[in-house]
Amino acid sequence: MHEGAIAAAIIQGALEALEKEKVTAAKTVTVLIGRLHHVVPDVLQNHYRLLKKEYPALRRSRLVIEIAPVAITCRACGKETEIVKPEFACPGCGSTGIDITGGREMHLKEIIGAEAKVRSKKAK
Ligand SMILES: [Zn+2]
Repeated sequence: MHEGAIAAAIIQGALEALEKEKVTAAKTVTVLIGRLHHVVPDVLQNHYRLLKKEYPALRRSRLVIEIAPVAITCRACGKETEIVKPEFACPGCGSTGIDITGGREMHLKEIIGAEAKVRSKKAK
């Protein structure tokens, strides 16, 4: 259900962006999702594949999922660090007064329209 709701939000956002840019069809839709959302990419892909069929502008599009790492920012020294394991102290100064500043992202990063393909072919 989590991934289903995210897929619906991505589709909604993509449709709005396409309309705003007056692009009729998307080729790829890239989203950036922070690791703290615990999204399972395969499950999200399946939901996207099912939902996109209802929208002609997205029917042929491919979803690209980028996962943003968890990051902390130290309140004492300001150092920002990406963390791979739950280690909630600043490696710079050892302070535990930190704010979690990365990993909660969830936004549409890029949409490549179908006509972009034509343009890149011409460039070659
Ligand atoms: Zn620090």
